[in-house]
Amino acid sequence: MCTHNDADHANGILGFLKNEELLCDEVWLPGIWTSRLKDILVKPSIFIHELVLDIDSNHLAYDLATLGDSYSDNELPLDNRNESEEYVQLEELYSDLEASLEKNYDIHDVAQFHRGPYLWGLSPSHIELFVEAINAAKLIKDIAIAAFQKGANIKWFEYDEYQCSGGIDGILEPLNSKEISTVKKRGALEYLALAMANRQSLVFHSPSSSNAPAILFSADSNFEFKQTIPWSNGMIITASHHGSKSNSNCYLRYENERSEHLNSIWIRSDGRFRSRPGPWYLKIQSTQRYCTRCSPDFKSSQNVEFTANKSEWQSSSIACTCGQK
Ligand SMILES: [Zn+2]
Ligand SMILES: [Zn+2]
Repeated sequence: MCTHNDADHANGILGFLKNEELLCDEVWLPGIWTSRLKDILVKPSIFIHELVLDIDSNHLAYDLATLGDSYSDNELPLDNRNESEEYVQLEELYSDLEASLEKNYDIHDVAQFHRGPYLWGLSPSHIELFVEAINAAKLIKDIAIAAFQKGANIKWFEYDEYQCSGGIDGILEPLNSKEISTVKKRGALEYLALAMANRQSLVFHSPSSSNAPAILFSADSNFEFKQTIPWSNGMIITASHHGSKSNSNCYLRYENERSEHLNSIWIRSDGRFRSRPGPWYLKIQSTQRYCTRCSPDFKSSQNVEFTANKSEWQSSSIACTCGQK
């Protein structure tokens, strides 16, 4: 499963899919990725032309992720150029994936050849946004093709603030998305920005069973969706956006909604970022949180492993030492 098109999330699934020793029956990907996937696969030059025009008329020199969050929060109006065009039938994407394997256009090459007529008018910060957008499109294409070549069934989950559907009942259930078979066609820049938006990253829940308590997979979400979060005692919660300060709403929602005696374990993965974790993560009792790498002493890193013992998750990993010198 991949939650959104951010390199630290998307490169992981690409590594998995490209490793021939690792197998899977299904790959779950963000539904927004399909909105212009056909164009990226088989008509990249038309897509890139549209992208350059979009970037040129974007007066804010945001990076792609910030742009995505702004679209998501309705701070920026959504593009309605393609409103009248039909919805994309996702079943048809399999033939586009097949066609693209034969043609195998390198999207960087196509972007290079567009340079003359279109790119010269872009300001330096717009050129950076363009390069970021081309890299984002390439990552979406590479993951979709790798999933297709793996022979896996691909399921698409579209972010939704109110409804959720699909997944596998009792095993892995979406909390802020719907499993879809058609998708709306969006403008090129808006598409790539929304695909990267933290706000729209997919959240999933693995309910408790007789063998193990639940797990909440938070991705980089800020938990601003309206669906109920099924908090339960002993659950593991992945610290949203690596415990980033900007995601304090997740913890706020947890504190407001959980019952008084509910306890949980928080897991945080991170690289070398001094700015993380934010103060909210440090409020969690230190024996209840585990990091793959603690800040600001980055010297040691670990795989955090848990095993289920009926009503409890147990771990021999070292509890968090973040904030200690
Ligand atoms: Zn992330
Ligand atoms: Zn830590």
